[in-house]
Amino acid sequence: MPDSQPQQPHSSGSSGPDPAESGALLLCGARLTDGRTVDVRLGGGRIEAVGTAGSLTAHATRVDLGGHLLLPAAAEPHAHGDTALSAEVEGPVSYDVPDVQRRATESALLQLGHGATAVRSHVRIGDVQGLGPMEAVLQARRSLRGLVDLTVVAVPRLLTGIAGADGLAMLRDAMKMGASVVGGCPDLDPDPTGYAEAVLELAAEHGCPVDLHTDGADPARLGRLAAMAGGLRPGVAIGPCGGLGRLPVEVISRTADQLAAAGVTVVCLPQGGCGGAERRGAAPVRLLRAAGVRVAAGSGAMRDASNPVGRGDPLEAAYLLASQCGLRPDDAYGAVSGSARAAMGLPEVRVEAGFPAELLAVRGDRLAGALSLAYSRVVVHRGRVVARTSAVREYCDSAAAVALDLPRQGRAKGNEPGRPKGGGTAS
Ligand SMILES: [Zn+2]
Repeated sequence: MPDSQPQQPHSSGSSGPDPAESGALLLCGARLTDGRTVDVRLGGGRIEAVGTAGSLTAHATRVDLGGHLLLPAAAEPHAHGDTALSAEVEGPVSYDVPDVQRRATESALLQLGHGATAVRSHVRIGDVQGLGPMEAVLQARRSLRGLVDLTVVAVPRLLTGIAGADGLAMLRDAMKMGASVVGGCPDLDPDPTGYAEAVLELAAEHGCPVDLHTDGADPARLGRLAAMAGGLRPGVAIGPCGGLGRLPVEVISRTADQLAAAGVTVVCLPQGGCGGAERRGAAPVRLLRAAGVRVAAGSGAMRDASNPVGRGDPLEAAYLLASQCGLRPDDAYGAVSGSARAAMGLPEVRVEAGFPAELLAVRGDRLAGALSLAYSRVVVHRGRVVARTSAVREYCDSAAAVALDLPRQGRAKGNEPGRPKGGGTAS
């Protein structure tokens, strides 16, 4: 029997709607984290029904997800689309609009392939490039619509003193152009508290969220920020807060209480830092969570000068939270999915009827195993398969595996995961 309020299946037969046109999709035989094996019907960008495998019939494109664990999709709360993929460029990095647009698009697609169907990208404004990189990432955003939701954080330089007036004017222009989050690096301004004040005022004026870079090494400064941030409804996030992790435990706990009371989210970057963070180091994830702070995990730099090997992979961030910070696998995955979406102001996703069809299928049957060996992935955005990665491993001599009846991975003929079956295309 179906488990969660399925709607009546669409009529089958030649008179029924074309599944490709109706956009209906039936994900078949996927494993859920509670151990059930289910079919999931998607339509209109939402999950229409979840039922035991074989229980749902629909005039829909079928996608075989046998052998896959189906999860709410990941989201990327801290990317740098303007500098991504620039580490191996010969000579000075170009910030011409076409070059930035290309890098921002390619990096967002890489992150989509990893399973992030929403990406928040921090983009520097000011410097000699002015608003060019912002314009480029906004163009990437438009061209990627329907594949991945890209939002842009404007990151101004100085906002106080004489230079601050120009910075503030440019920040206002960036918001008018389409940046939807006010960001910045208060630690780099001569007056960090004045900088944070300016950012919070402008965000309140525009009714938009704030997302600030900070090392978090100055607890008094964080306390002042928490006191100011409490009133901003759309939400305030800070990160990567590696410096906070180097403070004494009692100082971290007191600061964590202040952040929790103000509803400030901490976005940690387990895979490394980014150009906006002065020093590396891990945020004190467990102490923050214990105090009730929402902790999300992002990727930070992707192959730019500050991290030439950055992967931008949310499952790797979750893996590191589990292996380095000792989080349980479901909490670690929650940091890159549910908490990341909440930090970005996106609605919750569960694999249940009525929720947004933002999903990630990873080969495996348990979350811990998926975080350990998460190579093959199928990504669903707005009810469509938008990315597919297949990995095949073969051993030269598999007699040992056969003798012990060990699971072996291989591609079943005509049954490639994520490929549509029964006509039509999946994406
Ligand atoms: Zn950053």
